[in-house]
Amino acid sequence: MQHYFSSVPFSLTASFALPEETYRHIATVMRMQAGDQVELVHPDRRCYVVELEEVSPHRITGHVVREVTRPVELPVEVTITCGVPKKNKAEWIVQKGTELGATHFVFCDSQYAVAKWQASKQARKVDRLQKIVQGAAEQSHRLVIPTVEYVPGIEAVATQEYAVKLVAYEEEAKQGEVTRLGQQVQALMPKDTVNVVIGPEGGLAPAEVTALQRAGYTAVGLGPRILRAETAPLYVLAALSYATELTPGTRMGVLEDK
Ligand code: SAH
Repeated sequence: MQHYFSSVPFSLTASFALPEETYRHIATVMRMQAGDQVELVHPDRRCYVVELEEVSPHRITGHVVREVTRPVELPVEVTITCGVPKKNKAEWIVQKGTELGATHFVFCDSQYAVAKWQASKQARKVDRLQKIVQGAAEQSHRLVIPTVEYVPGIEAVATQEYAVKLVAYEEEAKQGEVTRLGQQVQALMPKDTVNVVIGPEGGLAPAEVTALQRAGYTAVGLGPRILRAETAPLYVLAALSYATELTPGTRMGVLEDK
């Protein structure tokens, strides 16, 4: 079923006009008709099946049939912070990262980064990434549209508060560090905010890692192989999903019930 987001509240009991930004897709692209159903996410992050009544390119109305209660969001709120990567890798990271459940993406300048986002282009770049995120959130039936942000450097990242702060450091992996990510993930509680900092293609500068460690970050290895800058965030998100959603006995839902 097609999945859309509404930025304004809608009635759960009466007919209502769907958000205008869905008209073109529903009427022209999908050629839906009265009686067809879509999923519509309310701003309060609840998702409803809506049956369409009137369908035209200029107005679509419908009513709520039922709520979709299947949990979709990761039980923890994950921020992926990346050193600005080259070419279109940021696009790749936000699209795949949204599918894998991240809630925020932060891109920051870092010492060994080859790419730079010029000041005049930063806002446009973030806008473009935000659009990609929106499409990916619809496609993967998310209940939230993740946010995208640019910050000038790692120092700005270090001042933000998160319950769990991790920096993926390739030098730790090269030293055989294979336990910390697992330990940190096992200690997670439902709704914890987690930030994972990942370096650009050139890696992280030791001074950047030290600054983050001073701010309470734990340097973790992501296994014995060195991953590309765009692979590392996806590895972390998949590991978090596995640990909190798929592992018997440690599922967050189970923890919450106790
Ligand atoms: N050029 C560096 C690799 C950079 S990889 C080198 O050859 O050593 C880009 C980023 O991905 C790293 O800064 C780190 O944050 C993350 N990363 C990749 N593989 C990793 C691993 N095995 N362990 C921890 N972090 C890793």
